[in-house]
Amino acid sequence: MTADALPPELRSRIEVSGECWIWIGEIRKSDGRPIFKKAYAYRLTYESLRGPIPDGLVLHHRTCKRKRCVNPWHTAAITQGDHMREHGFGGDANVGQALKT
Ligand SMILES: [Zn+2]
Ligand SMILES: [Zn+2]
Repeated sequence: MTADALPPELRSRIEVSGECWIWIGEIRKSDGRPIFKKAYAYRLTYESLRGPIPDGLVLHHRTCKRKRCVNPWHTAAITQGDHMREHGFGGDANVGQALKT
C-alpha cells in the first residue's frame, strides 16, 4: 500500500523518500516527534492503514529508526516492556534518547 491511500489531511503532510514517509507537518519541539492535532502522526497513519493499535501498545520504529518517518510498515506495535528491550534497556547512556524512537 502506498501513502496515497491515506486521508488527504495526512497525505498532504508527507514526503515519500524511498521506503520512508517523512512527515513534513508539525514537529513537536520538545522531542522532535511528528504530530497532527496533538496526536503522533505515525500512530494516525498506522491506524488509517493497518487498523487500531491495541490498548497499551507503543509504536517502535523497527525498520528505519527515523523519528519523522510515518510509514506504518516501518513501525511495530509492541508493549512498553518489549520496547525497552528493543532499545537495550539497562545499557548505555543513549537509552534515554533511544527510547524516543
Ligand atoms: Zn521509515
Ligand atoms: Zn522505539
